[in-house]
Amino acid sequence: MSICELKNVCRTYGSGAGKVEALKHVSLTIEPGEFTVLCGPSGSGKTTLLNQVGLLDVPDEGTLSVDGQLVGGLSSGELSKVRGQKIGFIFQSFNLIPVLTAVENVELALQLAGREGGERVAAEAVLEQVGLAGLGHRRPNELSGGQQQRVAIARALVKKPLLVIADEPTANLDSENGEAVLSTMQRLNREFGTTFVFSSHDAMVVAHARRVVTLRDGAIVSDERRAATS
Ligand code: ADP
Ligand code: MG
Repeated sequence: MSICELKNVCRTYGSGAGKVEALKHVSLTIEPGEFTVLCGPSGSGKTTLLNQVGLLDVPDEGTLSVDGQLVGGLSSGELSKVRGQKIGFIFQSFNLIPVLTAVENVELALQLAGREGGERVAAEAVLEQVGLAGLGHRRPNELSGGQQQRVAIARALVKKPLLVIADEPTANLDSENGEAVLSTMQRLNREFGTTFVFSSHDAMVVAHARRVVTLRDGAIVSDERRAATS
């Protein structure tokens, strides 16, 4: 079963003269274990598309299913339940809670999901998976940008989501930290089969993805699968 399937999805913002067709009949299927980057110029619809896949926004037209379930008829409460159970998010600006330590930021994701017990052990294990063993006691301002983003990856992964979505995860990082974040995502994909969909206009990131979906003016203009590069 596919992880997520969009068929003919349209999303239009505004109306009249201010109308913007941000997605125009987009169809896209994400299969388990894929590592997909969405690329395309600024304004081409990458964020709008990720918001659809992440159930943060709903289509005006077309259908979307996640894990085989059509989500079109769900209420916003039901949508947020599916989102909380199945999707992990990584943001461009990390979005860590500054007063919490790294391990507490990761634990919080489990606590918000209702988990009682074992959060510390689970959070430490996933911090180790992203290469941050021993740094769990630090607050975000005591970590580099790349380390902060890896805490955010750990937070997205700790609930073992079906799919991890990242909107420009390396855009606020220098190239060295960007590469560390990308290679962490790749390793998690390879070792644990975590499915990633993310956006980027960084050529280095695009060069490493196994599937590259290119958007232009709200439409998919190419969808290329390549052999693994690492
Ligand atoms: P990208 O992430 O590729 O830069 P976006 O998905 O953010 O592109 O935007 C696609 C188009 O939709 C752009 O023309 C943008 O200006 C417009 N847009 C995005 N969000 C909104 C919004 N909330 N209201 C109105 N227009 C929007
Ligand atoms: Mg964007």
